[in-house]
Amino acid sequence: QAKSQGRGQYQFFDPSMDESIKTRLQVATDLRQALLHKQNLAVYYQPQMDISGENVVALEALIRWDHPVLGAIPPGEFIPLAEEMGLIIQLGEWVLREASRVSLAWPDLVIAVNVSPLQFRSPGFVEHFEAIVKQEHTLPSRIELEITEGVLIEDSKGAKKIMTRLREIGFHIALDDFGTGYSSLNYLSHFSVDKIKIDRSFTQALGVTENSMAIVESVIRLGQAMGLVVTAEGVETSSQMAALAEAGCNQLQGYLFSQAVPEGQIATLLAREEK
Ligand code: C2E
Ligand code: MG
Ligand code: MG
Ligand code: MG
Repeated sequence: QAKSQGRGQYQFFDPSMDESIKTRLQVATDLRQALLHKQNLAVYYQPQMDISGENVVALEALIRWDHPVLGAIPPGEFIPLAEEMGLIIQLGEWVLREASRVSLAWPDLVIAVNVSPLQFRSPGFVEHFEAIVKQEHTLPSRIELEITEGVLIEDSKGAKKIMTRLREIGFHIALDDFGTGYSSLNYLSHFSVDKIKIDRSFTQALGVTENSMAIVESVIRLGQAMGLVVTAEGVETSSQMAALAEAGCNQLQGYLFSQAVPEGQIATLLAREEK
């Protein structure tokens, strides 16, 4: 199945090596190449809707990798690999550059960019992000950085400093996958953020699990009390949407509205709302 070039590289590894390790090493090498040539890598965009579900208010940049042999590999699989290989910085900067460029075409929309905890703690992170936005002639206020509570771990003092600087520069900050970590509440008490994104596991428990409505309602109330925007992730059904609206949620994101689409399809996505 492997292309001739790929096959040659497989030979490089010790034949006694476990097949899965060999594949992993090969995939790691391929990721490095893909990033170097920006080949088979793309940034897709998923809309975030206001609570009516009719207006797009933001776009989340989500990376896609179409491996020449293995096909599409989900970011949940290759992001950890990129982190291990030290490629996450380069990858994250490329995504920000793309997102910044796209922000110019859609002046009414905020573009959300995911930031890995490793990237967040890397030296020069704030300066690099500031410089990229500037080079692309957009404003930090057009960009929302999505972080998870992983950034808190180890050095929360350092993380707080970085967060403060990012907000001073004008970046928006969203807390991604809210509720899934150890100490989401602890996180909120330490850092000032602009938005909470309720993890899709909570959205999808609505109407399925007892107490799920109570949990979602209290997160939304908490966010409101703190003056934050609350976005629900993973909205797939109109009954989930109705429950979220009822609970006072501000924004919705999920397959009910759209999957992430290539840049060329953003216009079509936005045209839908004008009906
Ligand atoms: P995330 O930031 O929480 O992104 C939301 C994920 O949920 C995306 O998966 C999206 O496609 C998926 N999703 C959206 N709506 C629905 C829905 O209604 N139902 C279901 N089942 N899923 C939905 P994706 O694109 O596979 O990304 C997975 C994770 O990979 C992201 O989670 C994020 O943590 C990470 N990721 C993606 N792109 C980047 C990137 O450029 N940089 C970094 N550091 N991480 C990224
Ligand atoms: Mg995200
Ligand atoms: Mg999320
Ligand atoms: Mg996630």
